[in-house]
Amino acid sequence: MKRVAVIGSGLAAISFILQLPEEIQVIWIAGEGPGLSNSYLAKGGIAVSHSIDDKYSHLTDTKLAGAFLGNDAIMKEVTFGSEEVFHWIEQQGIHFDKNPSREGGHSQNRIEHLSDQTGKFLVAHLWEKLRVERKVILLENHFALELLVQKGKSIGVKVGDAAHEKEMDIYASATVLATGGSGNLFERNTNAVGANGEGIGMAFEAGAELEQMEFVQFHPTRLYDPAGRRNILVTEAFRGAGAFLCNTKGEDFMKTIHPLGSLAPRDVVSLGMYHQMDKDNVPFLQLNFSAVKEEVFQRDFPYLYNEVKNEPYFKLGWIPVTPAAHYQCGGIKVNASSETQLTGLFAIGEVACTGLHGANRLASNSLLELFYFGSKLANYLPNTLQKSGELWRSEPKPLPTTFPQLSIYIKEVNGLMWHHFGILRTQEKMKLGLNRLKELKQDILSTPHMSIEKKRLLNRMTCAIQIAQSALLRIQSLGCHQCLDDGMDKPIHQ
Ligand SMILES: Cc1cc2nc3c(=O)[nH]c(=O)nc-3n(C[C@H](O)[C@H](O)[C@H](O)COP(=O)(O)OP(=O)(O)OC[C@H]3O[C@@H](n4cnc5c(N)ncnc54)[C@H](O)[C@@H]3O)c2cc1C
Repeated sequence: MKRVAVIGSGLAAISFILQLPEEIQVIWIAGEGPGLSNSYLAKGGIAVSHSIDDKYSHLTDTKLAGAFLGNDAIMKEVTFGSEEVFHWIEQQGIHFDKNPSREGGHSQNRIEHLSDQTGKFLVAHLWEKLRVERKVILLENHFALELLVQKGKSIGVKVGDAAHEKEMDIYASATVLATGGSGNLFERNTNAVGANGEGIGMAFEAGAELEQMEFVQFHPTRLYDPAGRRNILVTEAFRGAGAFLCNTKGEDFMKTIHPLGSLAPRDVVSLGMYHQMDKDNVPFLQLNFSAVKEEVFQRDFPYLYNEVKNEPYFKLGWIPVTPAAHYQCGGIKVNASSETQLTGLFAIGEVACTGLHGANRLASNSLLELFYFGSKLANYLPNTLQKSGELWRSEPKPLPTTFPQLSIYIKEVNGLMWHHFGILRTQEKMKLGLNRLKELKQDILSTPHMSIEKKRLLNRMTCAIQIAQSALLRIQSLGCHQCLDDGMDKPIHQ
């Protein structure tokens, strides 16, 4: 029997498993489940270029957004493959709205969407299809803790069963990491609770190479919510429909920064907002939606409309917004077949660095990327897969679930990442931040008793330290890595 262990339950994992031939046994380590993934939260949609002219323009937009740091061959392969992805999704019984919208950095309307909750609808539909059509061994509320390596090869994964306070080894001839990004490491972020960079941490510890970890994309418009109760993203498509960012005088300040104004690439808008908030000494900026007719707001952005319609600012025609950590552009280094440097270990989705995004992801290229490579790997993997042994797991051993000091450590790490590795970095702040992260990791290691939460936290710490180290190594500002003391007059925007 050929066996694959799949870790994560976002769209990368779901679409990959759906396309994997039935004769391959799948052990699925699903963590918190798809409802708590970034996939579920995706709002805007998926970038698809249908005509040949638009494919070239999509490719150019991708290169420009990524500050020409992306891999040319991969960028072409994926943008030109976007129509194939679109057809595959439609063949699964999903029908896009067919009025493509525009998002930051795109020179054309090419974002295919399902109202303003594309991710939620895609996850619900494909998860249900998978549940009905594909036999898998589904391990819910189980978390990958460590990758098992023997003689330089990945042989499976150590897993914690949080409900039963146990851990066990899962054996497979291939392991596919689809654990998503790391935005949740930052104090202000748009991400789901599962996006903690654990997959990155595990892969690094197992010997896989990471790449471009310094490029953390900050989304310009998360709803400003001082109480922190609501994590609501104001989709870029809303700016595509006419909303624009204002300073305290009500001026469209982005127009003076970039020809695309509020629809400039995300790194440009977030940095512009950062400076403006500093200048005006305010914790948020106004997103003026006076140019969006109420019926259009209600019809095209029903989720957002319902969330803000009763707020006092709504009547004034604006929404308070702030930039927040959103997307991990780098990740585990993979080749065009999603293979990592470690034999038998594969990575797809946000956890992987394929070379598509370069220094900054073009909006809505991430759903495209995960569907594209999920499908490609499902076709490629069966031919390369060795037979696995009969035994698929070891005898479970007791391991407590909780780590009492968890929230204290998480709070400090979140603050460090936001203040020392946020939108505008300095060498001094980064050095201080990195030292403190390393101290914290040692501190955690020195606490008594091991537990599932503690092992997960250590993987997060590894990821945070890797972001910090990569950021320190890149002296010059580029894409979403912006450094104040890089010796340049102003940050580089291509
Ligand atoms: C608010 C928001 C809006 C977005 N909108 C768009 C958009 O419109 N278009 C677009 O292209 N992109 C968008 N993105 C980005 C996009 O949604 C993500 O990049 C993409 O969905 C990632 O999919 P994934 O399957 O790789 O990871 P995820 O969907 O994040 O899934 C990862 C899964 O792995 C699980 N996991 C993590 N660690 C472990 C572990 N140790 N053990 C077991 N399981 C684990 C998590 O719990 C989670 O279920 C958006 C992101 C956010 C946050």
